[in-house]
Amino acid sequence: MKVATVEAIPVAYPEPNDFNATRYLCLVKITTDDGIVGWGESITQFPEANPATAAIINGMAEVIIGADPIHTEALWRQMKDRAWWYGYGGGIASYAISAIDIALWDLKGKALNRSVVDLLGGPVHERLPAIASAHAHHSSIPAMAEEAREWVSTGLQGFKVGFGKRGDARLGYEHDRDVEYVRAMREAIGPDKMLMVDCGIAIKWDVATAVKRVQRFDDYNLTWIEEPLGAWDPEGYATLRAKTKTLIAYGEREWTLPGFERVLATGSCDVLGVDPGRAEGITGFKKITDRVEAYRRQANAHAWSSAIVSAASLAISFSSPACKLFEFKPLRNPMQHDLVPNPIEHQDGWVYPPTERPGLGIDINEEVVNRYRQ
Ligand SMILES: [Mg+2]
Repeated sequence: MKVATVEAIPVAYPEPNDFNATRYLCLVKITTDDGIVGWGESITQFPEANPATAAIINGMAEVIIGADPIHTEALWRQMKDRAWWYGYGGGIASYAISAIDIALWDLKGKALNRSVVDLLGGPVHERLPAIASAHAHHSSIPAMAEEAREWVSTGLQGFKVGFGKRGDARLGYEHDRDVEYVRAMREAIGPDKMLMVDCGIAIKWDVATAVKRVQRFDDYNLTWIEEPLGAWDPEGYATLRAKTKTLIAYGEREWTLPGFERVLATGSCDVLGVDPGRAEGITGFKKITDRVEAYRRQANAHAWSSAIVSAASLAISFSSPACKLFEFKPLRNPMQHDLVPNPIEHQDGWVYPPTERPGLGIDINEEVVNRYRQ
């Protein structure tokens, strides 16, 4: 069995969980000479990143075509070598490696008739709690709290909310209002559900502001605060961590194992966000979770794009003790619910190991791919 074709497929789609903003992904479809198909994805998010990723996938196809898709580790290393000059330290090359690597794992599972979780050594969790990862859609605090209460009433075990997002929520900009919001949220969802705050790129807190906010949030038992000081501020994060109780999450903007290792070495990150559609696929993510485990920290899949990255994230989350929960976008959306006939769902707030079907365990509806193809 050999890889016959590698097709980069940039897509643009409206994301209902982000006020129908157009979001971008670069999918890849890899087909073998005996007709087995594997699917991968990179979470490019921006229009200019899509053609750039597709161009690199097309270049890297030279390494992949004619190769045995079972050799995921060897091919991952060959792709890294191929990008030695333009991909050192990460960047767009990591998107291309991510998409191809995920597709190769999907193919490998289908060829061997085993799930990706099985190929990674089997599940280390019986089940994982599921939470909602959402943006708030209202301007008033009581309406936002009610929205969150409704979402967790489906059984979801927690709620992660984005600060500094589109719309009228205006979260992250005023100290007293933010504290009142967190208080109201805790009251609405109850003491037992997880509650996380995730600061977006629009939030520009300085260290003192972050300390002041998080010290007040500490009263409401947040599970973690995500990117309160952005992607990289080791001194700021060390100060914040010394002065507050809430766990600190960041790392999702890193690309490579050395990048994640650098975050881990600061000692200031309790929960590392990792996206297999960015951090060099299932092979890359697995190497990262192994290091996170060695540092006795938590890893969390940033699975907020298509069902392909969700399936890859779910497989790795079940293969690593460092992963403790799984996130869902709460609103029905085309890249999760139309792209595949069997979307990943929680059952009463739990997800179970996806071991029953080969590969990533999803079937791709190519009509939907073509609907959003650029
Ligand atoms: Mg985040």
